[in-house]
Parts: sequence; C-alpha cells; structure tokens
Amino acid sequence: MRPTHLNPFFGDLQSLPGIGPKTLPAYRKLLGVGDTEPARVLDLMLHMPSGVIDRRSRPAVRDAIPGTIVTLTVRVLSHRAPAKGSRAPYRVVCEDDTATLTLVFFNAHTSYLEKQLPVGETRIVSGRLELFNDTAQIVHPDHIVSQAELANLPLIEPVYPLTAGLSAAVLRRSIRAGLKTLSAVAEWIDPPLLSARAWPSFRDALETVHAPSAVDDCEPSGAPWQRLAYDELLSGQLALALLRRQIKTRGGVARAVTGEHVQRIEEALPFSLTLSQQAAISDIRTDLTKDERMLRLLQGDVGAGKTVVAVVAMAMMAEAGLQSAMMAPTEILARQHAATIAKLVEPAGLRVQVLTAREKGAERKTILADLAAGNIDILVGTHALFQAGVDFKSLGLAVIDEQHRFGVHQRLALAGKGDAATEILIMTATPIPRTLVLTYFGDMDVSKLTEKPAGRIPVETRLIPHDRVAEVMDRLAAHVDGGGQAFWVCPLVEEGEMVDAVSAVDRHRVLAERLGDRTALIHGRLSGREKDDIMARFAEGAISVLVATTVIEVGVDVPNASIMVIENAERFGLAQLHQLRGRVGRGAARSTCLLVYGSPLSETAEERLRMMRETEDGFLIAETDLRLRGGGEILGTRQSGSPMSRVAVPEFHADLLAISRKDAQAALAADPDLSSKRGQALRSLLHLFERAEALRLIEAG
Ligand code: ADP
Ligand code: MG
Repeated sequence: MRPTHLNPFFGDLQSLPGIGPKTLPAYRKLLGVGDTEPARVLDLMLHMPSGVIDRRSRPAVRDAIPGTIVTLTVRVLSHRAPAKGSRAPYRVVCEDDTATLTLVFFNAHTSYLEKQLPVGETRIVSGRLELFNDTAQIVHPDHIVSQAELANLPLIEPVYPLTAGLSAAVLRRSIRAGLKTLSAVAEWIDPPLLSARAWPSFRDALETVHAPSAVDDCEPSGAPWQRLAYDELLSGQLALALLRRQIKTRGGVARAVTGEHVQRIEEALPFSLTLSQQAAISDIRTDLTKDERMLRLLQGDVGAGKTVVAVVAMAMMAEAGLQSAMMAPTEILARQHAATIAKLVEPAGLRVQVLTAREKGAERKTILADLAAGNIDILVGTHALFQAGVDFKSLGLAVIDEQHRFGVHQRLALAGKGDAATEILIMTATPIPRTLVLTYFGDMDVSKLTEKPAGRIPVETRLIPHDRVAEVMDRLAAHVDGGGQAFWVCPLVEEGEMVDAVSAVDRHRVLAERLGDRTALIHGRLSGREKDDIMARFAEGAISVLVATTVIEVGVDVPNASIMVIENAERFGLAQLHQLRGRVGRGAARSTCLLVYGSPLSETAEERLRMMRETEDGFLIAETDLRLRGGGEILGTRQSGSPMSRVAVPEFHADLLAISRKDAQAALAADPDLSSKRGQALRSLLHLFERAEALRLIEAG
C-alpha cells in the first residue's frame, strides 16, 4: 500500500488548473505516459527543463542591447490597432525616461491587450529586444505584469521540451500549480551523503528546479537535479538489489529439460545458429537444469538474433512442462514477436498466444481461461502480462525484451506470478558503454551475442546535406520502381514542435505526390490497431515507403526494406540512429542508410555522424556517444531516450550510479525488510519512481 502522504504526487494531472480532457493527450505525449497508465502530477514534476532564460537584465530602454532578453519597466502611452483587414500587427507604444519601446502583437486580441496594458499605467515587460527603424521593440513579450505582480515574473525561467498543442506558458503554469500541491516527504538519502553534497530535500529539489533563483538551479550539474537523479538511480538499484536477493535466497528448481522440443525447432531453422547463440543457449540450459533460479541478461546488438535464443529457452521450459511469458516494450513488438515465435515453435507443436490491452471482452476471457488451464505454452504481451488477473497454470520462465527501453526489469516483481521460482531472462539491445554495464544491471549473469548472423551484409552509411534531399528522393523512387522497400524517418510529427525540422507529415505528402499510395505514414498518434495495420501492409510489400517518426525504432523486422533515410539525422541521439539503422540490412540485398543532415553542423554533430558512417558496432558507438556529448547537446537528444531514465543523464550523473548501488546494498543489509525509519522512506522512494512492485519481493520473501 502506498503511504497516504504521497498522495499529492499521485494526483490526477487533470486536477491541476488548466489541464483538461482537451490538453491531456498533449501532456501524456510530452511526459511519455503510456496509453494505459494514469498521468500523474509527479510525471509533470519530473519533466526536467532543457535550459533556462535569464531575465535579470533590467536596463533603461535606451541601454538595452538588441538581441538580448531584457526586463523593462515602462509606461503605456497608446494603442495602435491596425486598420480593418490589414495584416499589420497591433502595436502598443510605451516609454521610460530614456526612450520609446514598441510592443508588437500579431493576431492580437484587442480587449485582452487593453486589459493587460492600460494606457497611462506602468508595466514590466520581458522578452527579446529588437531594433526596428531605430526604435526598440519587443514582439510578443513573454511576460507583462504590473508592479504589484512583479513577484510573478520569473527572472530566471526554466525552458522545457514541448510538444504540439502545448505552449510554454501553459506548461509552465501547470508546473507551478503542480508544485503548490506537493507535500514534504521523509528523507531517504543517508544523512552523511546528503550533507556532503549539500543536496536539498526531494520536494525542495523539485521546487528549485522548476522555480530557480540561480541559473545552475536547473542544470543537470546543479545540486537539485543531482539529487533527483540520485533518487531515481537509487530506486532502480534498490529494486535490482531486492530482485537479486530474492533470486539468490529462494532456491530454484532443477528443470527436467529433455531436448525434444528444442531439437525439432533447431532442425527446422533455415539457418545454423552462430557460435555465440549456441553459447548463450548452453548457458541457459545450465541455468535451468541447476537448482538455482536463473537471472540472465542476454545482450546483443540489434539483429544479433536474440529472439531465437529466447525461443529455445521457452521451448526448454515447455519440455519441463511449464509455461513461459515474454514481455515486449510495445504492442507492435509484442505482436511481431508472437508471430515470429509461433512460426519458430510450430515444429514442436507449442501453443503461442498474444495478450495486450487490446484483447478485450470474450476474447480476453478465453485467453485467460486457456492460460489458467495450461493450454498456452508461450504468452507474449506488454507489461500488462504481469498485472493482476493474468494467472498462469505454471509460469516457469519470464523473458523480458527491453529492447532500448532500458530499466523495465527493475520495475518488475515477477514473484507474485505462478511459481515463485520463475526463471528470468532479460534481453537488451541497449548498447550500454562497457564501463556502465555492471552498475546498470547489477551482478546478473550475462550472455553476449557478439557476432552478427552469417551472411549479414554490412549497411553502407552515407551523410548527405539537406540541400541534396531531391537526389535522395530520386534514388528512392528508382529503388521503389525496382521493387525495393524503404524507411524514411523524420524526427517529429507535426510542424511547429520545432521550428525547422521537416515533419513526417510534410515529408509523406511530398513523397506521396511522387509515389502515390505506395507510401504510408506511421506515427505515435495513430491507434495501436492503425499502426499494426500499416506495419502489416509494409511487411507484406503492399507499401513501399514507410514514412515514420521514431515509432519504428523498437523491433520491426522487414527484411526486404533495404534503404533507411533519416532526415535531420543530427537531431537524433547516436544510440537511436544506430537502432534505426538496424532496421535495414536484415535481408539478402545490400542496404543503405542515408543520414540527411541540416547544415551547418556543429563540430560535435559532425563527429557523431561520421562515427555512424564508420562503424556498426553499437557498443563502440555508445562509448563514443558518452565521450562526445557535451552538456548542451545532450539535452537536445534526451527526448530520444537516454537509456537511463527521465531525470538522470549519463554524462552528469554516471558517478552517482556507483554510489547508489553501494547505498542500496548497504541499506538492505542493515534493514532487510525496509522497516526502519529510513527503510520506510526508501519504500516511499520506490513508490515515487514506479518501482513499488519490488516491495512485493519483501512481502513474498
Ligand atoms: P534481435 O532481436 O537480436 O535484434 P532477431 O532475433 O530479431 O534479432 O534476429 C534478426 C534476424 O536474424 C531475424 O530475421 C532472424 O530470423 C535472423 N537470424 C537469427 N539468428 C540467425 C542465424 N544464426 N543465422 C541467420 N539468421 C539469423
Ligand atoms: Mg529482437
């Protein structure tokens, strides 16, 4: 049970002023809240700034420097509305003792401006100063307040990543409202660490990050952000330590693996297993036949062939008479896995079923009944698999495919499902820098798929400046005419989210003019069914060019697609480019990845893209990424998914990971069931960072 004093953090986001049914979808998207999860005040509080605007410069109008952000105190002289039908802006003329200042508004609401800027009154306005015909002006001031309201004008103002349909002002207002609802929570950080680092409390850290009084208050290197990052890391490490302890102390069962199913499956494979696949399978067989529980990490780059290994593991469990569950990060991927797996296990006659939020009503009932009766050997789904109401007859193995959504395993407590001795296999394609593996995954056993399956032809990667995008289109058209298929990835869905990024919608329109209905557009706003439908048509070749935002990044296997175009490649994180590129090069044809970039590139951006051209080794790319990303740039790429989390940023907080790991282990050693005062506070921490499932490991233990 969640302690009641945490309730404010878990309040419905819609309870905040300004957030209603109309804006909620934009918030959900921005905050990365899953379709089936509630959007909570806490999600908003953990939406970290991407920068800061310093409004502290308060010169006289005459001394204000054009191009800078200033806060000016002026008297309102007159309003000049444009003539009816004119497209000229609405102007408000103001002055101080030194000069005139014009405020300029396009598409102005006259009555609103008359109320905001009454003639004869003094107002404080803040925004970017420009010179127009030698007169100082501010177009659309960010803030207009009276002297009495001066406290409402944030002189240091955080800037946030945004999404379509949500303005900076609205977002900031809701964050401020959210802050007001928060209550204090008991401290879970060890006092010596807290004082050595001079960290604020959890609540104060949130307040300071969102309502800063110094510039570094909302930077990843500042104390408040450091603290929040530590909290997040500590909760992950604590969950991991609980899981590990449970697995170590609870004896496992030696499984009677006979080999009959596996033999049939392996014989029917159209390829032979690579040496590292064989080694991984042998590791798993050893784990399963020992009377210890398996907690194994199967690490392998995209396309390394992890699925077959997992299938063999699940077939072994079936030989022992037990069921397996595979959890995928998205619905698309769950369905694709289920289809792949069903084909692979057919020779052994194993029964595979998919279960996601979409299976409803009578269909769901039947599946659940079959599962409980043992009529299903392998159940594939999303995290909903491990929710209440899904009861296996005898669950022997849980396979967790994290793909790139690193950290899913830390949130899971599988103990509550079926046999307490459930074996766990985690598959990850996250190319985590070598230096960080241990701290991310704790002391799990690791099998690594090091070689690519035989016959895989390297993907040729080219860098192309955006002004040559027409040539790329020509090439694509020729490719498609020859029966080829391609992906075209754009960073964002709609115009307006970022000024000059070409949107998938626009790109699709242009491509469709040329290629007709052989193109389709897929993006995050589509429903699961629509996405699946498009993917299915792409997979069967009815669609030649799939224009997409990054929803295709996880999974998706279409071997005939041999061109991957990534537009505005400089806006993607390296790990993400790597995984996108992994979508091609899966078939017989030579594949090409075209990284189309906007010029001019910064030096670092250029080095990053060159890196992509030079290697396909995901682990090398990850190391380089870690080395290259500077403070400014990482924030730009955060939306594309730092493997760590929402708050912690590897470049700034990697050192905290090791500390949090030790801390978690020490805390558990001192207080095994987290019942002390600090233990109770740590329980709150697990709740706040969505790892409360791990607490079931204590209760079950
Ligand atoms: P991952 O999950 O590691 O990204 P997959 O398991 O999806 O990779 O495998 C990618 C592709 O490689 C699949 O089409 C799969 O059938 C194929 N494959 C797997 N193992 C081999 C192998 N040993 N030889 C040839 N192809 C393989
Ligand atoms: Mg896979």
